[in-house]
Amino acid sequence: CGVFGIWNSSDASAMTALGLHALQHRGQEATGIVSFDGSRFHDHKGLGLVGDVFGDARVMATLPGTRAVGHNRYATTGATLLRNVQPLYADFEFGGLAVAHNGNLTNAETLKRALVRRGCIFQSTTDSEVFIHLIAISLYATVVDRLIDALKQVRGAYSLVALSREALIGVRDPLGVRPLILGRMDNPDGAPSWVLASETCALDIVGAEFVRDVEPGEVVVIDGSGVRSLKPFGTNPSRFCVFEYIYFARPDSVLDGHPVYGARKRIGVELARESGVDADVIVPVPDSGVPSAMGFSEASGIPFELGIIRNHYVGRTFIEPTDQIRNLGVRLKHSANRPVLEGKRVVLVDDSIVRGTTSRKIVDMVRGAGAKEVHMRISSPPTTHPCFYGIDTPERSKLLAARHSLAEMAELIGVDSLAFISFDGLYRALGREGRDEAAPKYCDACFTGDYPIPLVDQEEIAADR
Ligand code: 5GP
Ligand code: SF4
Ligand code: MG
Repeated sequence: CGVFGIWNSSDASAMTALGLHALQHRGQEATGIVSFDGSRFHDHKGLGLVGDVFGDARVMATLPGTRAVGHNRYATTGATLLRNVQPLYADFEFGGLAVAHNGNLTNAETLKRALVRRGCIFQSTTDSEVFIHLIAISLYATVVDRLIDALKQVRGAYSLVALSREALIGVRDPLGVRPLILGRMDNPDGAPSWVLASETCALDIVGAEFVRDVEPGEVVVIDGSGVRSLKPFGTNPSRFCVFEYIYFARPDSVLDGHPVYGARKRIGVELARESGVDADVIVPVPDSGVPSAMGFSEASGIPFELGIIRNHYVGRTFIEPTDQIRNLGVRLKHSANRPVLEGKRVVLVDDSIVRGTTSRKIVDMVRGAGAKEVHMRISSPPTTHPCFYGIDTPERSKLLAARHSLAEMAELIGVDSLAFISFDGLYRALGREGRDEAAPKYCDACFTGDYPIPLVDQEEIAADR
């Protein structure tokens, strides 16, 4: 998901809509904005893209105020229903509060069961609603104390932006798995505007300046007196999601100190060093494979060519619901650029193999266009485990790499050779010496099965069986 919040802007909801538009890649299913005008909260939500939901000036006119928060939904839990669309809003003893969540709680079901037993009535089927109930039943007085009380009970990955009557609040989980950044805009007369967003690309679109990443476990409280930082969890070594660099984040964002684009290119460089191959052209699977293919081409000296053309008017294949549509999606989305491929030894570069559906179709298509050899290079390690922290990887049984050896995968996908980036290569591309087995710098659980946050609900389910 993508989250955005702004404090003290004359056009808060329009800024939020722009920010969400820049974060569209983080979720295309639904979007919502809640604004506060100094006395009342206003909200509008809809299924679909930001431009479709907020493109109408009459809709924007219903969201007055100088403060707003917004959310783009990418479903990992809960169905596509309007009542699951965030920001979630509720009236409490202390007044209204809107909460937008990126990530996934690993003990939401366990907490929900206990809350329902206590009489809480859930309105949605998203894991994020437990925040609302935990805040509602907290015995602390202030919004911030109640929020921290709630945070201490949840497990999982979360970057939150929340808007109360008094403050805009940003939170990152203790390991900082999902991103959240702070920005500001100077106003010629008066106090600055403050922005919280999933990625820096959302600052660029509104003309805000990057201040810093919100730190793992940090609660940032923005109000009339400025920005306050709380550390209710002390300080922890970060375990930022490595897949944000590989695929999820936008290439023009800078996360956790590293420009995403540069990281992707360097992964391609490492990949070429590790798994170089004699070939005539390097062809990215667009768009996700492009920067790594450029790095691969640079390091190998083999020309980079656009041998596959992407139709931009189709959503990300992966996010479409059924296997059948996913299959069709690849054909709707990619076509072969025959003159580049015919008679050539082709290296295809993509970011990941999940089910293998994309790769199989693409390889088929490239061979159909006359390629003499097809070699596949992947800028992530094999995806062997599901993500429980906010990325929608399918269950293990559907992951190609969970069930097959490298040779079997190459055979199934139909390539002459197949290679994935090594862990050390990946970490080197991110400026480390390699993967420190005892204390890895990043979450890489979908590639290693080393889950840095306990999977409480999964363990409960296993115990119930
Ligand atoms: P597959 O067809 O192997 O299941 O999917 C792999 C393709 O899905 C890659 O090209 C990757 O760019 C794309 N993809 C889109 N969204 C996601 C996501 O959330 N996770 C992963 N792992 N891949 C995704
Ligand atoms: Fe990111 Fe994978 Fe960890 Fe999920 S499991 S947070 S996708 S690295
Ligand atoms: Mg892709």
